[in-house]
This record gives sequence, C-alpha cells and structure tokens, in this order.
Amino acid sequence: MGRTQNIATMEKEVGTLRERAEQLKEKRPGYGEILDFYVKVKEAQVASKASLRTGPIKLKKEWKGRLTEEGFSLIQKEDFPVDMEASISLFHTLCRIGKTANPHMAEQAEKINKILKDNKMDLEKLLTGRGKEQTSEPVAADQGLEKQVLSFLIQNSIQPSIEAGMEQLRSDLEPETWRKSTCPVCGSLPSLNLLKGEGGKRYSLCSYCGYQWRMDRLSCAVCGNKEQESLNYFYGEGEEAYRIDLCDNCHHYIKTVDYRNLEESDPCLEDLATLHLDVLAAQKGYTRSVPNPWTN
Ligand SMILES: [Zn+2]
Ligand SMILES: [Zn+2]
Repeated sequence: MGRTQNIATMEKEVGTLRERAEQLKEKRPGYGEILDFYVKVKEAQVASKASLRTGPIKLKKEWKGRLTEEGFSLIQKEDFPVDMEASISLFHTLCRIGKTANPHMAEQAEKINKILKDNKMDLEKLLTGRGKEQTSEPVAADQGLEKQVLSFLIQNSIQPSIEAGMEQLRSDLEPETWRKSTCPVCGSLPSLNLLKGEGGKRYSLCSYCGYQWRMDRLSCAVCGNKEQESLNYFYGEGEEAYRIDLCDNCHHYIKTVDYRNLEESDPCLEDLATLHLDVLAAQKGYTRSVPNPWTN
C-alpha cells in the first residue's frame, strides 16, 4: 500500500471513530472523559502504525499445521516482533495524552515524564518485557508508580506492533473453524464477543492481538461450558445491541456487542460506552473474562 493511500485509510479510520464517539457521548454524557481519552490513544496508535517497521514472523510450515491441528496458538505473546523506536516514541506521546485524561492518569503520566527526564527508567527494557508483570512490577514499585497504569502505557505503546504481527499471521489461519476459547494466534482469552451477519454468527475478539475467530453461540467464552442450565445473560435496559453472557460454571462473564443492530464500529469503544453493564455483572458476582485495562 502506498504512503498516500495509507494516510487516506488512516484518516478515514480515525474519522469514523471520532464520529461514533460523539454519537455515544451524546447518548451517555457520563462517558465523555473516557471516550475522549480512548479516541486520542487510538489516533496516536493509528499514526504510529502507518510508519511501523517490524520484521517478518517466521513459522515452520509443518510446525504451523501441527499447532493448529492440536489446538495450540501459532505464537506466544512475547514472540511478536516489536518496533522499538516507534514504541518508545508512542510511549512518550501516550504520557502526553495521559496528562489530559482523568486526574489519576494525569498524575501518573506527570510522574513518569519526570522519571524519564531524569533518566531513571529503562524504557527499552520495559517495552521488551511486553508489559509482563515480572518486568514492570518491580519498576513501578521502585518508582512509586501504579503498576496498572505503567503496564497500560507499555501495552498501548507496543499495540501497533502486536496488531501488525497479528495481521501478518492472519492469512495462515481459518477463523471459521477454530471454535476454541483462546486466540489461535497468541493463546489469549477474548475481551469481547461480537455477533455479526445474517443469523448472528458469534466471533471472539482477542484481548491481546485483536484477532477475531468464530465461536459456538451457546458456550462460555472462558471455560467452554456448553450446559445450557448454567449459561445465562442479561441486556441493559433499552440497549439490545449489548448483552452480558454469564457462566455459572466458572463465574465469568463476557460482553457481547451485537452488530446486527449496530453500524460497524470499534468494539472497544462500544465496550467503554457500556461500562454500567460491567458494574451490574460484578454486582451479580461475576468476573470479566479478562480485566479491562481501560478501567483499572
Ligand atoms: Zn490473540
Ligand atoms: Zn465458563
């Protein structure tokens, strides 16, 4: 894809996101702050992705076949190649954006800026550690930072590289036939389920790399439970496009965005505009499939 075309696609993507965020804010003004923050982070990531340089992921052909046959993911989270220069630059940008977010994030971003200025943090090492707890927790403790905020910033800085890696591997997989609860690319659990197309085919959205794969409609996205008596769901009032699926086997829940009643849009944005459903699920005693990094 040429550079000009790249920029045009990029602007369209960001434009659609902004427009949808405005619609959602109008409906639910209480989410203004978090939706604005999300859009700014996304804009920075899209811009970073346009000039990304990551190497090819090499998989042995026979190995690839065996992995998918036996139900293993293609690679591990730490195997995604990361463009270090782009990630460092994005980390700095996200800290700047963080200063305009909620007061807690703003305070943490301010602190991190100072630490970086004083050269007291090895950012490259942190990013190489992919936000893994073993790498980021001691740094957060040392510097008096909140570990969730630090790992949020690390994760979002490498996200464009992770997505580029996933896009490289996507053609090696058949999304319609996988039907397992973990991502065929990286082995992570889904953050959301999506219903799409005629009859509402169900897809899971990977919480780490963003890959989407087909799932059986009547099964728990976390433990795979298919016993109908222990699977329940609820909708928000007047919000049929969003539903919460509950599993009484593992006591997890997952949010489903139903695109049969909704224009195509960024599922994570829809998720952030319906956090009240997460509150209801938690009140009922269920835990989200994976923690939502935007609300920690
Ligand atoms: Zn994945
Ligand atoms: Zn379950």
